[in-house]
Amino acid sequence: MDYKVIYKRVYDVSKEGRLLSKNDLKAIFCILRDQYDFDIVCNNLVFSDELKNPSCIKFNGSCSFAAKHIELNLANIRNNAMIDTIYGTNLTMLRTLLHEVEHARQLKEVFSNGKFMNNSNDIDLLLNACSYNYLKYFFKKKSELTDKDIAYIKSFGFDINSKDYATLLRRFQKSLYTYAPNERMAHINSLSTLSTIVKHYDKRDDIIDTIQYELNNALLRGYKRIGKEICIYSPSYRFLRGMKFDKQIDNLKQLEDKYLSDESFNTLRMYYGVHVDDKFISEKQIKTRELKNKLGRE
Ligand SMILES: [Zn+2]
Repeated sequence: MDYKVIYKRVYDVSKEGRLLSKNDLKAIFCILRDQYDFDIVCNNLVFSDELKNPSCIKFNGSCSFAAKHIELNLANIRNNAMIDTIYGTNLTMLRTLLHEVEHARQLKEVFSNGKFMNNSNDIDLLLNACSYNYLKYFFKKKSELTDKDIAYIKSFGFDINSKDYATLLRRFQKSLYTYAPNERMAHINSLSTLSTIVKHYDKRDDIIDTIQYELNNALLRGYKRIGKEICIYSPSYRFLRGMKFDKQIDNLKQLEDKYLSDESFNTLRMYYGVHVDDKFISEKQIKTRELKNKLGRE
């Protein structure tokens, strides 16, 4: 991937003292689209303020399989910039675009593989397939669910009219970014790519530290320590248990044993949101706190 062209654009535009324009973002989008070849699931970049019914009012961006586009909400991104400067806002725009592009890549992977749910031998694919199977219904209103949708949801033991199901939807709506594997992985990947780009082309410590701080938080997100016991619940298993994906839980455990048994895979394990050594989590938490103090964050 030629990140140099992408970074140069962000850098030059920032140096001119302006934010990335829609044209700048479209040019970067085209480079990424060519690289990942996700035309079949998404081929266009649109902006919320140009749509009659913006679908990501609450979000910075979204990737719609149905509409085959990535949508960016520039007003939200400006309000949620990682660093409060023009350059920081432009980096946040790039991060958001990378996040949505990652969703397009995930969707392409899921929808070009028919047998994903039970037979996958790929952790990434299994987790994304479970996420998208759930989210397909999650964003539909009850009145929009077809008989086939209802039967599918029922096959996991949920009655769409039950309180259980309503509670589940509410719970996951609040914590979508904490547990849904596709969201965790897209967020981690976008920050990791941004970190690679910035470390390579920008040597400023404060920028590198800020992105590293965000990346550490993204990796730690969703891991929960219960009491003083060394017992950490991992986000992806919590998601799969909540969704009653029992077969997939067994499948994931087998894949973990097969591919992630070595201790050196701890960071990759956090990326997947599966069980990680308590010691590794504690060390990461300490490093993150140190960065937080260094950056003078609240
Ligand atoms: Zn997302």
